[in-house]
Amino acid sequence: MAERDHWDFPLPETSDFLVLGVTGGIASGKTTVAHMLAELGAPMIDFDLLAREVVAPGQPAFQEIVDYFGQEVIGEDGALDRMRLSGIVFRDPTRRRMLEGMTHPRILAAFVHQVRQLIEKDPHAIVQAVVPLLFETHLEPLVHKVLVVYVSPDTQVDRLTRRDQISQEDARRILDAQMPIDQKAARADFIVRNEGGLDETRKQVTALWQQLKEMQRLDAQAG
Ligand code: ATP
Repeated sequence: MAERDHWDFPLPETSDFLVLGVTGGIASGKTTVAHMLAELGAPMIDFDLLAREVVAPGQPAFQEIVDYFGQEVIGEDGALDRMRLSGIVFRDPTRRRMLEGMTHPRILAAFVHQVRQLIEKDPHAIVQAVVPLLFETHLEPLVHKVLVVYVSPDTQVDRLTRRDQISQEDARRILDAQMPIDQKAARADFIVRNEGGLDETRKQVTALWQQLKEMQRLDAQAG
């Protein structure tokens, strides 16, 4: 998706807060784990939500996109038809880059704005940035540490078919189009294994939370 320089945007220069990137594969449990972290006190910034907000009707990106792609990308509800738009840019790198140029800097600006607001409220916040395509979009520089929520590809297929009522074949096709989850796990600072029951996952998330708090404490001591 993005070139790294699209995202080269400074976060406040204080080491008191921590931004944890939360990623994983499709249906691996990112949302589930993010909610657990939120309950423990980590405010959440959801990149999927930011991506939708920056192109909402009335936002500058909305008009730019309609001017460039035409009225046919507006859905019946007056909002952008994101499926149609993805279809258009899927095999057209030039138009894809145009679209990214209209959206990525704004998503990034919204992210930085939200981080600033959160650390104004709590300078020691552990902020989670939930970014499904964190590695694919080269967003590692935006976060201090990366958590990968891991399940095996077979479990991904199983949960995806159940949740989205799709066939195994379709689920495998979706997985094949993504960076394999094992490659993501290899690049993680932390891994939560979400294969078992929710209690097992929650135990790992609580341990991770304590570890992050401890990291912050030691950092503060080191000055
Ligand atoms: P997506 O990539 O589609 O946004 P996600 O990574 O956020 O998905 P979730 O929505 O958290 O994943 O979980 C995917 C599905 O698996 C959901 O239906 C969820 O209820 C279920 N699920 C998550 N964790 C577990 C678990 N430990 N045991 C059983 N089911 C689970």
